Amino acid sequence: MKDAHFETKAIHSGTRPVGSGEPSTVPICHSAGFEYGSAEEMEEVFAGRGFGHVYSRISNPTVADFELRLAALEGGSGACCVSSGMAAIACTLFALAEAGDEVVSSESLFGGTLGLFANIAARSGITVRTCDFSDPNAVARLVNVRTRFLFCETIGNPALDVPDLRAIAGIGSDAGVPLVLDGTLTTPCLLRACDLGASVSVHSTTKYITGNGSAVGGAIVDTGVFDWTRSKSAIVRGMSETVGGRFGFLAALRKKIIQNVGACASPFNASLHSLGIETLSLRMERHCSNALALAVALESSGSVANVNYPGLPGNRFEGLARRQFGGRFGGILTLRTGSRDRAFRFMNSLAYARRLANIGDTKTLVIHPASTIYRDCPDAERKRAGVTDDLVRVSVGIEHPDDIIADFTSALTGGK
Ligand SMILES: *Cc1c(COP(=O)(O)O)cnc(C)c1O
Repeated sequence: MKDAHFETKAIHSGTRPVGSGEPSTVPICHSAGFEYGSAEEMEEVFAGRGFGHVYSRISNPTVADFELRLAALEGGSGACCVSSGMAAIACTLFALAEAGDEVVSSESLFGGTLGLFANIAARSGITVRTCDFSDPNAVARLVNVRTRFLFCETIGNPALDVPDLRAIAGIGSDAGVPLVLDGTLTTPCLLRACDLGASVSVHSTTKYITGNGSAVGGAIVDTGVFDWTRSKSAIVRGMSETVGGRFGFLAALRKKIIQNVGACASPFNASLHSLGIETLSLRMERHCSNALALAVALESSGSVANVNYPGLPGNRFEGLARRQFGGRFGGILTLRTGSRDRAFRFMNSLAYARRLANIGDTKTLVIHPASTIYRDCPDAERKRAGVTDDLVRVSVGIEHPDDIIADFTSALTGGK
C-alpha cells in the first residue's frame, strides 16, 4: 500500500474490514463513549499505554478511518480530523504558539483566517506578522527569535497568488520553525506538503476533499518533516518526550488542544469525508481542466476587465504553479467586472452557477467576496488579500465545460 499510486491509496487506505460479511463503506459509529471490560483496562487506555477509543471528543473509529486515508495521501506520519477548516487552523495556532510568541503569515488569506489572526490570536497575546509571500526575502525579514511557525495558503484564496513553497520552507528550516500550509485549494492531489519541506498541512475538508458540499470539516496532517523534540512550543516538546519526536505535534494537538477546546469532528461528517476522498483525483482533474477552459474562454472573449487564474499563459505565477502542482492550477478563478453593480448583475444573470458561499463543490459556485466573506475586514487588510469591489470568485464545478462557458458568456454579455 505504501508504494501504491494516489488513486489506489484514496480507495484502499483507511480501516480495512476484517473477516467476512463486512460492509464496504466505513460504518458510522455514533457512540459518545466506549466500554471496557475492566477498570484496569480503562486506565491503560486513558494513560495512552493501551490502544483504544474512550470518548468521541478525543477519538472515534469512523473519524480515525478518514484520518488514516488523509495521512496516507499526504505521505505523513498521521492526521487529526476536526470540526471545520477554521478549527484546524485555530488548533494548530494554539498548539504551536502562546502569549508572547509570533507567527509570520502571508497577507493573502481566506477571510476566516484573517479574522482568527486579527481577533483571537491578538487577544491571546500572539502577534501575527504578515507580508507578501511571493517575496521570500520579505518573509525572511519578518522572522525573529519569537517566531514559532510560518503560515500561508498553497494558492491564496481569493488573490490566487502562489508562493514558492520550497523557498519558504527553507527559511523556516534555517530558523528552526515549521512551515504550516493551508492546502485547501490544492488538496494532496496537486501537492504533497512533505515533498516541498512543509511540516504541517491543514485542510478545510468541507471543500474538494468531500467534494459535494455535504459536510463541514477540517484536518491537520503531520507531514513527518519536522523533529518535534526541537519544537519551540513547550507543549509539543513536552509531548515529544513522552511519545517521541515523530508524534509529538499530533499528540499535543489532540491531547492538549482539540480535546480541551472540543473541536472534534462528528462521525457522520467524517464518513462523508471518507466517501468523498475516494473520488478526489477524478474530480480534481475535471475541476482543473474546466477552470482552465473557462479562464481561457473568458479572457479571449474580452467580455470582462480581468480574468485571474494561475494557469493562464502570462499569469505571473504560471511557471511556478506548473512546477509546484504537477501541471495543474486548481479549480478557482476570479473575474474583475469593472464595478460592484456589474458584479451583482453578472451574478444574478447566471443560470447554472449558484450564488453560494463555498468552494470545491461539484456545482459551479460564485460569490462577491467584498460584500460577504470580507465584509467585516478592515479596508487595508481586504485590499492586501486581493479583494476589490468588482471581484467575483468562481469555484468551477465538474459540469460539462461547454455549458459553464456558455452560462458565463451569456451572463457577461447581457444575461437572460
Ligand atoms: C474554506 C476555507 C477555510 C475554512 O474552512 P471551513 O471548513 O469553512 O471552516 C480555510 N482556508 C481556506 C483556504 C478555505 O477556503
